[in-house]
Amino acid sequence: ATWRAVAAPLPMGPRRGVALTFEDITDFESAGRMRRDFVANVSHELRTPLTAVLGFVETLKGPARSDPAASGRFLELLEREAGRMARLVADLLSLSRVEENERLRPRTPVGMAALIQGVAETLASVASADEVTLSLDLPEGEVLVPGDEGQLRQVVTNLVENAIKYGGRGRTVTVTLGLPGPESALRGDGVRVTVSDEGEGIAAHHIPRLTERFYRVDGHRGREVGGTGLGLAIVKHIVNRHRGRLRIESKPGQGSRFTVILPAMVEG
Ligand code: ADP
Repeated sequence: ATWRAVAAPLPMGPRRGVALTFEDITDFESAGRMRRDFVANVSHELRTPLTAVLGFVETLKGPARSDPAASGRFLELLEREAGRMARLVADLLSLSRVEENERLRPRTPVGMAALIQGVAETLASVASADEVTLSLDLPEGEVLVPGDEGQLRQVVTNLVENAIKYGGRGRTVTVTLGLPGPESALRGDGVRVTVSDEGEGIAAHHIPRLTERFYRVDGHRGREVGGTGLGLAIVKHIVNRHRGRLRIESKPGQGSRFTVILPAMVEG
């Protein structure tokens, strides 16, 4: 623990002196360190694409100016790097929005089956570009969860995007919506959304750290994968806000399974 000593003159009286108060500022210190790390990370993540953009602009103004093929290629690279920055800024904004009102629990009834279908439709072209089959396993009727529809959509979107990205070309990604069983309903939780892939999986020691901001498994830092490292941090905050749980399981070499367990809508 870190302590801070505060000296204050004693109130007037026959004797002069000071009172020393000790405060435990461990939390305060680590919050400060976290904020500094965060700013350093953001700056680093933005600087990399920004340096590339400035470099491409220089090339476009100079050597590539009179070469249409080269210009075209550099414009495409420019677009890719600018896209990375845009994604990073968008993710940072959603993260701060979610953190801001983490204490306020959203309670609008959200139909999870329709929501999952919507996400699958939106991501169909991303999946087919990677030859990934999106398979949905939904119950007959609608399953309601008290929550914020936009945020729950973001949770499912981030998990399915990851499963497509890391699940491997030509494989299947399955999204399952499970109804609360009689026993779990008693505990007030139980609507399960499971996103599983058949990818390379995640080594056990990485799993507890995946929801940290900017944490990525080594092999996935490459620019071609194109993530921001914020997707699962956003998922965790949204799930917390909904008083839910996120479970991550993986068998290296066989695939990963991300399960979000949300409190079911209580009737009446
Ligand atoms: P990113 O933008 O890098 O995808 P995320 O926060 O969404 O960031 O995920 C953090 C890291 O967790 C990823 O970089 C990747 O290493 C790992 N990861 C996430 N989902 C999967 C998955 N389905 N299979 C394997 N690794 C995954």
